[in-house]
Amino acid sequence: MAIYTCFDLVRDCRDNRPEGWIYLVTNYVPVIRRFLAQYYDGRSGLLERMLLQLKNPQSGLWAPPGHAEERIFTAALRQELLRLAELDGASLEPSIALDLETLTQALEQFTVIDRQYIWLESMGYSNEVTAEMMNLDVSSSESARARADEALRNVLDRWKRGLVAENGLTLGRLATATLGERCLPSKAYLDTLDGRITWQRKKDYDYHMQQCWFCVDHFCRIREADFALNKSKPLTDEEAAPFLHHLGVPIPKKEKKGLLARMFAR
Ligand SMILES: [Zn+2]
Repeated sequence: MAIYTCFDLVRDCRDNRPEGWIYLVTNYVPVIRRFLAQYYDGRSGLLERMLLQLKNPQSGLWAPPGHAEERIFTAALRQELLRLAELDGASLEPSIALDLETLTQALEQFTVIDRQYIWLESMGYSNEVTAEMMNLDVSSSESARARADEALRNVLDRWKRGLVAENGLTLGRLATATLGERCLPSKAYLDTLDGRITWQRKKDYDYHMQQCWFCVDHFCRIREADFALNKSKPLTDEEAAPFLHHLGVPIPKKEKKGLLARMFAR
């Protein structure tokens, strides 16, 4: 059996083929559920509404050439979900606004690793989860976040603890708008996560990320995607069926039996 890739998924969804939506539901509903719980916990019926919105062949997510790697696709999926969920109902404004210039000023001396701890806080991740995503210890994350809180206190007129997390959505939007010519390609992050990187390349990447929030955000979103994919397991055919019905996707006969059942049914 040929391997069905992310590239096939994007093409099939763009062409509105059932195979694409079946694959999306089976493999990505668990990931989408995870993201919605992270960013919009408690908004009822959101998963069903988001799935209907995603099942639009015109969505930017399905635009050619498509994402060939599942972590890159997942990071793009997360962006699309946040965009759609904000249209569905806007999140509350932060009580004290924080912009990127102020954050840059406050965190001037912070390392690239520290910046990722802070950025993952803006994405709402606890110290424990962050440590797991970064494969580093919890105390380093706690320390970086406490130092960031104090550094912000020194540059802000109005301040309270936890402003980074409260301003997460805004900071994310501001960072994605700062893409520059020298920004790193997604492959740089995949190579870093997979350990396919030389010391010199790491130094070059760090040098850039030290002054670029777009790339810190991008790397954190790839880390988040990697983590979400590792933690999610595909739906069974029975679990997927109600979602496919909801989306009006016809389930081909052969899909009604699970893969194992098909393999042993002779
Ligand atoms: Zn950059």
